[in-house]
Amino acid sequence: MTSHGFVLCAVTGMAVLALAGAPAGAEGTFKVKVPPGKWKALKVPNQPKGVSVTVEAKSNGAVAVAFVDSGEYGHLPAVTRPLFQGRIDQHLSFSVTIPSAGDYFVVLDNRTAEEPRAVTVTVRRARSDQARAREDSIGSFQRQLDEFQRNLNQVFLFDPVPLRIKECGAPKAFTTSSAIVLCREYASMLQETLGDRTKAGDAILFTVFHEFGHVLLAQWKYPAYDNEEVADEFATAAMVLLGQKDRVRAKAEYFAAKPSSAEAIAKAFRDDRHPLSAQRARNILRWADDPSLVRKWQTLFVPHLQTAALEQYLQQPAPLMDRGLIAQELASRR
Ligand SMILES: [Zn+2]
Repeated sequence: MTSHGFVLCAVTGMAVLALAGAPAGAEGTFKVKVPPGKWKALKVPNQPKGVSVTVEAKSNGAVAVAFVDSGEYGHLPAVTRPLFQGRIDQHLSFSVTIPSAGDYFVVLDNRTAEEPRAVTVTVRRARSDQARAREDSIGSFQRQLDEFQRNLNQVFLFDPVPLRIKECGAPKAFTTSSAIVLCREYASMLQETLGDRTKAGDAILFTVFHEFGHVLLAQWKYPAYDNEEVADEFATAAMVLLGQKDRVRAKAEYFAAKPSSAEAIAKAFRDDRHPLSAQRARNILRWADDPSLVRKWQTLFVPHLQTAALEQYLQQPAPLMDRGLIAQELASRR
């Protein structure tokens, strides 16, 4: 380990997080019985322009199949301008690109046969570009969070915990007994309200430190690990120790100076235990500017720092923690 610059890297990535909203792909499987001499059409409703729809059909015998738009549907069973036309023997699969938004139909034509046909039709819509971009950004954010935890674990002694970014249906971040969960909606909401990736990144970084505060304090058997103010103070002290004072200050200064933003976010966070109030921001500023903050926390930090980190802190020209305490801890480990 050469420096604690890691947090910057992990966090620069977090600031890049961009999450767009788009519905996921539509999918369905239908079982259709087509009597001899008859035809049936299956509606594939509300297809957006430009998506790719894949149809897979399995049949117990030969049957004609076509994929048509709603204009063509009015002329069925005559098919003049199909997007696809073919014949299933047992199995058939085809894809079409939707030329304009609207309803579409899979037509199964058994008019020339003397036997009924049982057909299973599966319709899949490829994810839209927006949905794909959103999934990619969740994946990249997840990788950054994993990297963040690995880096944090190079400094502090703790058992890694599952750290997940996922869709929750509400803007939240929370810690359970088994995992830290950051909801996608939380990150999106911060970005929308703050309108700035750097500010959103700072706020998300503080949140991650806060949630790790609960986890690390619990693992270290600190009695008030569940207390929100304690987790905030821990997060501030840890960020100062790791050279992130500017980022924790920037975040808190913004919320202290813009109670309207804090209020807007507090409203969105109705169900959350962590309202971003101006008062909370003022506490964080006060702690961040207090030169004795890290000294106050050092009796808890020092026994829970990795040996390599302790050695590094011992060599710093202006140590944030007591050299004597660090040397004593290192001696006890030899
Ligand atoms: Zn909390």
